Order: sequence, then structure tokens, then C-alpha cells
Amino acid sequence: MLACMELKTGLYIDGSWVAGDGTLDVMDPSTGTVIAAVSTAGDAECDAAVTAAHNAFPEWAKSAPRFRAEILRKAFELMVAEADYLATLISKENGKVFSDARGEVMYAAEFFRWFSEEAVRTPGDFRMSPSGDKRILVTHQPIGVSLLITPWNFPAGMATRKIGPAVAAGCTMVLKPAGETPLTALAIADILERAGLPKGVLNVILPSKTGPMISKMLHDPRVRNLSFTGSTEVGRVLLKESADLVIRTSMELGGNAPFVVLDDANIDEAVKGAMIAKMRNGGAACTAANRFYVARSVAEEFTTKFAAAMASLKMDNGLTEGAQLGASVSLKERNKIAELVDAAVATGATVHTGASTPDGVGAFYPPTVISVEKNNAILQNEVFGPVAPIVTFDTDAEAIALANDTPFGLISYVYSEDLARAIRTAEALEAGMVAINRGVISDPAAPFGGVKQSGLGREGGFDGIHEFLETKFIGVEI
Ligand code: NAP
Repeated sequence: MLACMELKTGLYIDGSWVAGDGTLDVMDPSTGTVIAAVSTAGDAECDAAVTAAHNAFPEWAKSAPRFRAEILRKAFELMVAEADYLATLISKENGKVFSDARGEVMYAAEFFRWFSEEAVRTPGDFRMSPSGDKRILVTHQPIGVSLLITPWNFPAGMATRKIGPAVAAGCTMVLKPAGETPLTALAIADILERAGLPKGVLNVILPSKTGPMISKMLHDPRVRNLSFTGSTEVGRVLLKESADLVIRTSMELGGNAPFVVLDDANIDEAVKGAMIAKMRNGGAACTAANRFYVARSVAEEFTTKFAAAMASLKMDNGLTEGAQLGASVSLKERNKIAELVDAAVATGATVHTGASTPDGVGAFYPPTVISVEKNNAILQNEVFGPVAPIVTFDTDAEAIALANDTPFGLISYVYSEDLARAIRTAEALEAGMVAINRGVISDPAAPFGGVKQSGLGREGGFDGIHEFLETKFIGVEI
């Protein structure tokens, strides 16, 4: 099955695959079996990774943008060629179904293609000062050694969304993938090596003690930039850690996305969109619709059709033919989902489908649709699974107030047949991104990111490369 590429399980430091201070078992959450033992990094390996990135930086920073662009383009082509292999690997270590995993590989590869195009198009600025006797030159330079930390839910996409712009900008990197899903990150390092990335530019390590070892790296003056994707809770810790040496940070954090169906929405289209917004990646997406606010006049029709569509999904091992919902990444994550649903049911939720934890091995949880009151606690939690709580509302203003009633602000969804009304609603929603009449919005060519406690900075689009560049002003007297 994992035939074309060689499975990499070592640490990748300074262009070599090396062992560390021990190993960590990677599990297949569908079967509860160990699929690989990956080397972990001790203090010495963490330091060696930073040293390699630091030593590689001067040459890499002044390399020709076209050279960096062509490495990324080649990496894009290799990822596409290896898509089945990578998708199988993702499905095995993460639990998601093969079609979702393959979609992720193509999405992830697009960041290499997009940033191969961006690498050669970083504009500067040349201006006359208002007094006329000076010139203002503005240029952008790579920040330096960047620490990239990624979560388990999109092990390829979250890595390339950082590596792509870092390579394009001329930064060197230390990538730390999630403990549950390191194999995909190592496979991507392998691809970049095959694409010609010079040694030391990208280093991949899995620290044996995440918190203290990352903290030490954030107190190493050679590290200049941190790009983190993960929970708000961990993001907050890392922001504090980064403060001591004033390290530049980008934070892609948690979400709690509202999905708003106004009373003039096309309900069949809204159900189709809801299925994508909820079920992409089995609901384990920061962009996943997490709260459904539906106008009272259409709530019954929407709920009936949505619950039927959810109930029809086939839940199975992600690599089984026809599987539409795979396992959660671990029993721990699955049990968190079950606890949130059980608490909602205990506090008055009406169950339309699902809501019961299956017996047997594998971290499975079924597609679940429940109706809840607007103050149910489940609405304040990022469920990160196939669970859709529905709340009814009476006015657009009430829907907007309910949607904004969260400390998060990553993405919101709006369905309405009246574009002006949908845009007015989108403008009032506190979110970094709003999807109108569509269930998926992520696009490598668009700025991805949140407001409020969903993060700082943007990945992708024209903004993404600037997370790895510093602006320098050169003033000239003439
Ligand atoms: P997480 O627990 O925050 O972990 C994310 C990464 O941070 C992992 O690599 C983890 O390593 C590492 N980490 C944990 N504690 C750390 C510490 N004290 N210091 C340094 N690193 C630490 O998040 P997750 O459960 O993997 O992912 C789910 C979360 O990510 C959700 O909240 C989701 O919304 C968010 N997310 C956001 C976006 C976005 O773009 N906004 C995208 C995807 C996911 P270990 O595995 O070793 O613990």
C-alpha cells in the first residue's frame, strides 16, 4: 500500500535522517494498532535543528527567488504525483477517509504552487519624500529561522501552508508536527529534499517533551519567527513564551464557526453546503461549521433534510471503499466529542440522528444532529467532530448576535438568496472569513485567518509570504 515512497521515521536535520533520544509510536486510530515508531528529539537534536537552520540562513536568504520558486514548483509536481501514497499515509495516521485525505494532499500541494509564483513577485516601493529632498526605499527581507508548529487535523495542508511561504521568502525552518501525525510531515520533507531544497533549510523534529523543548527554542536568540497552528489554549502559551525575546508570531487558532440560514435561503443548497462545512475532515477542521442558526420558518425543513443526509453517511475505516466518515484522531479526541454531546442531551437537546458512542475498537463517533436552546453549553465549545447543534432564530439581528456570541472569529457561513442581505450579514459577522452560499472557503490564493481569539496574521494569498518577511525602509538623502 505504501509502495512508491519510502516511509520516513527519523528526524530530518541538516539534510540527514537521524535517530534521536527515543521513539514515539504512531497509531492508526481506526484500528488502534501501531503503524510506525518515529524518532523523538532530545535537547541535543532540537539544538542541532536550530543550528542547521541558522547556518543555512545566510546563503539561503540571498538565493535567487527564481531558484526557490523552482524548488517549490518541483515539490508541487512531486506531491501531485505521490498523491495516492500521501493520502493513504494521512488516512492511516489521522483516521480521515481517503477522499478527504486526497483532497487535503491536492490542497496542500497548491500552497507550493501558489508560493512558487509568489516567490518572484514580492514588490518593493520607491518614493519621493514630501519634502522632495529624500527618497524612501522600502524592501522586504526574510525574517530568519522560523519555528513552524502544526496540528494533527490537516497534517499536510497545515505544513505546506507554512513551508511554502517560508521557502518563497528565503527563511529557514524547524518544523514540529503534531505527535499524532508526524509521518506526513516527514514525507513532505522527503519530497522537498527530492525537489532540491538545500540541506538545513527545512528541519523536522518531534521533541520528546514538547512544552519545555519548544520553550527553550523560543528563548534561543537564533529563532526569529514562530508560525503556529493549533488550539487557542496552546497559542496563548506560545504568545507569552514568544514575548521574552519579542519573536514575531503568526497564530492560526481555534474556531467556533456559525452557519446561518436566513429565511430566504435555498434549503436544498443550504443542506448541501452544511454537509460540506460540517463533514469535511469528519468535522475536525478549524473551519468546520460548529453551530447552526436557522430561521424559524425554514428550521423544520432544514433540520429534516440535514439529519437525513447526515444519517445516510457510511462510517468506516478511512481506507475502506465507500467510507464517508472515518475515525477521530484518537480515542481521547473521540471521547471529548461524546462528552460534549452527552452533556447537551442531558441539558435538553433533542436528538435527530446519532449521539451514541459505538462499541468496539477505533475512535469512531457517528454523524449527529441535535436541536438545542441558544444557551446550551455545547455552543461555546469547538466540538471537532461530526456534530451539528441547531438553534432557531426569529430576526437577522438575532442571528448575528448569536453568531457573534463567542470569543472566536475564524469563519462564518451565510445562506440567503438575496446577495445584498447576505453581504450585509457577512459584514456584521465577527470573523476573518465569511462564506456566502458555499460550504468551503479555503483557497491557497486567499488570505486565511481569524479575528478575536482565532488568531493573528494570515496564511495564503498575497499576505502569506509577509508572515516570513520583514519590511525594511532605506532612507536616502539626495
Ligand atoms: P494543539 O493541542 O494546540 O496542538 C497543536 C500543536 O501544538 C501540536 O504540534 C502540539 O504538539 C503543539 N503543542 C502542544 N502544546 C504545546 C506547548 N506547550 N508548546 C509548544 N507546542 C505545543 O491543537 P490540536 O489538538 O493538534 O489541533 C486542534 C486545534 O487546532 C483546534 O483548536 C483547531 O481549531 C486548531 N486549528 C486551527 C487552524 C487555523 O488555521 N486557524 C487550522 C487547523 C487547526 P504535541 O502534538 O506534541 O502536543
